[in-house]
Amino acid sequence: MGRACLSPLTKADTTMENHFDVIVIGGGAAGLTAGIYLSRAKVNTLILNEGAVGGQMVLTHEIANYPGVENISGYELARNMKSQALNFGCKIRSNVKITSLALEDEIKKVTVNNKDVFTSNAVIIATGGKSRAIGAPGEDSFKGTGISYCATCDGDFFQDKEIIVVGGGNSALEEAVSLTRYASKVTIVHQFDYFQALEHYIEDAKNNEKINFVMESEIIEFIGDEKLRSVKIKNKSNGEISQKNIDGVFIFIGYVPNTESLEGIIELNKFKEILVDKDLMTNIPGVFAAGDSIQKKYRQVTTAVADGTIAALSAAEYVNNLKKEKTEPAVV
Ligand SMILES: Cc1cc2nc3c(=O)[nH]c(=O)nc-3n(C[C@H](O)[C@H](O)[C@H](O)COP(=O)(O)OP(=O)(O)OC[C@H]3O[C@@H](n4cnc5c(N)ncnc54)[C@H](O)[C@@H]3O)c2cc1C
Repeated sequence: MGRACLSPLTKADTTMENHFDVIVIGGGAAGLTAGIYLSRAKVNTLILNEGAVGGQMVLTHEIANYPGVENISGYELARNMKSQALNFGCKIRSNVKITSLALEDEIKKVTVNNKDVFTSNAVIIATGGKSRAIGAPGEDSFKGTGISYCATCDGDFFQDKEIIVVGGGNSALEEAVSLTRYASKVTIVHQFDYFQALEHYIEDAKNNEKINFVMESEIIEFIGDEKLRSVKIKNKSNGEISQKNIDGVFIFIGYVPNTESLEGIIELNKFKEILVDKDLMTNIPGVFAAGDSIQKKYRQVTTAVADGTIAALSAAEYVNNLKKEKTEPAVV
């Protein structure tokens, strides 16, 4: 997404073909759900997605906690959501680059690939996010085959297995304790000799007999074949490198919302999450946000889907009110 472009619309920008009631930016669980709700309600909707549609769902080998659907692959769930949206008449354009956004005016303007201009009465931002990665060699290869960023999602796959949890904040310690419900042993690897977590999380981890600690250390390489088998760990105080056989590694070193390009356009908090009200409207009238990119604590498919629903219903109401205002005679 490029910088804000606040140039006024010219007549040529708004044609029947490129004007929509709502444009949804992002085609993950939140964006696709918004597309389903809006299109089913005959609200003319376009989803614009950078990359392939599906978002983080397609990175997930198996989703076992989506209500009513037992053990579906993330890819299949995403494909089902996409075809449901398309069947209701939603337009989807994937693999696009949003190069400028003008959101302040009543007619919103989104430019794609520096050339195609789409306009709408409302916009829903559902750009999601990503877990912060360590950046060590092998990390990309073993995502989903030994490396996970979500204990709620993947903990159950490590029943009676030995795992590592990377991180030293609240999430890392809380998730390490929750993972002891499945794993036989949990080793917390943390880069400092102290934790940056609330005292009760530290106490809970220290009092858990399945948890042990490797402090002042970091993983410098992930090794395996079709799945992760071992990691190389470097002790930061003496430089020593050791190799440890392991079934899985859970990484909790922060989360990065995909909102870099919204800075200065929409109000974000200090974690770069989008600030929204109870109807999921941002600080700009007619601009809503949903899913992992907004300020919230729990990031799951179910919560993204719930947000997508709320944002869609709110955006539909906003657009309907705008249309009513235009047709009703002004009260003098
Ligand atoms: C490995 C892994 C396993 C998981 N397992 C589970 C699980 O088992 N159960 C569960 O409930 N949750 C799981 N989660 C979490 C869940 O997948 C997410 O919370 C949820 O999918 C978020 O949906 P979203 O639509 O908000 O965002 P995303 O899925 O991140 O989708 C955002 C979309 O927006 C697009 N986008 C980003 N920036 C732009 C831009 N500038 N312009 C246009 N498009 C853009 C992206 O390409 C993406 O398609 C898992 C997450 C991961 C990473």
